Amino acid sequence: MSQFTPENNVLVGTIPDVKPIILPTDNPFTSRVMQFEKMRITALEALHITIDFWIQLTESARLAFKEADIAKPKLNTVSPFLNDDVLLQYLPITLKSVLGELQKKALTDEVQKVTQELSQLTDDVIIDYGWALLGYTETEIAKEFQLFLSIALKIVYVKSATLAELPKLEVEQGFHHCPMCGDAPIASVIDPMDNGLRYLVCNLCETKWHKVRSTCHNCPNTGRIELLSVEGQESAMKAESCPECNTYIKHIDRTKNPMLDVYVEDLATLSLDFTLAEDNQQRQSFNLYLS
Ligand SMILES: [Zn+2]
Ligand SMILES: [Zn+2]
Repeated sequence: MSQFTPENNVLVGTIPDVKPIILPTDNPFTSRVMQFEKMRITALEALHITIDFWIQLTESARLAFKEADIAKPKLNTVSPFLNDDVLLQYLPITLKSVLGELQKKALTDEVQKVTQELSQLTDDVIIDYGWALLGYTETEIAKEFQLFLSIALKIVYVKSATLAELPKLEVEQGFHHCPMCGDAPIASVIDPMDNGLRYLVCNLCETKWHKVRSTCHNCPNTGRIELLSVEGQESAMKAESCPECNTYIKHIDRTKNPMLDVYVEDLATLSLDFTLAEDNQQRQSFNLYLS
């Protein structure tokens, strides 16, 4: 156990100035929309319909995030600190807000149809789906509903994390899952403000937590972690692969480009996933835009 001092969010007795937890502060969908628009410029024409839909949905999420009226969360006494039961009550209204924004846009017939079906769900059903998305239940969710529900759930959790006070507790460092919400990381990052330290980014609430570079995000391996890329060693996007558990995670060095988004870059480097899948490497978490 390491002593966590809430005043400065610094772990005592480890590397100086390590913030173990960094909560999200901004609306993450703002830069995500811009990065999707950038992606569209160089994408094959066959992908334009899909990317246009991602842009519409992310822009709707940006507005719904701004409007989301979520109370400052009262944290659990142990990790995960966010209270699922409380947060899921916000899911129906947040989903409706996303759908409302989407329906103002020129949607394809297919998307239009799904948004209408989703609009008719009762609050109880939406909350049930939320429990299933969080992994608590086996309730089956129609494939075409998943992305919309995942985006609404993300809005609720990221917004709550932005409003949260850093947990005033002793915490263990070296979390494999998000200390705030318990979800798996979507990527590891090095950000310009973080003194070259590697952080894992939560796939749900986008909290970052510190994890020493030579440790696996998934298993106790503290030995060799391989860095792989398709574009050569200078690429800002690589995959960290663990030879012990055969699991990998995308890694973004944002000191090379602070604008890079974990979800958009992940989608832009799917060839890396195909190469690693051929090598029997697995991922722990999945990009919601592919659901
Ligand atoms: Zn989280
Ligand atoms: Zn491992």
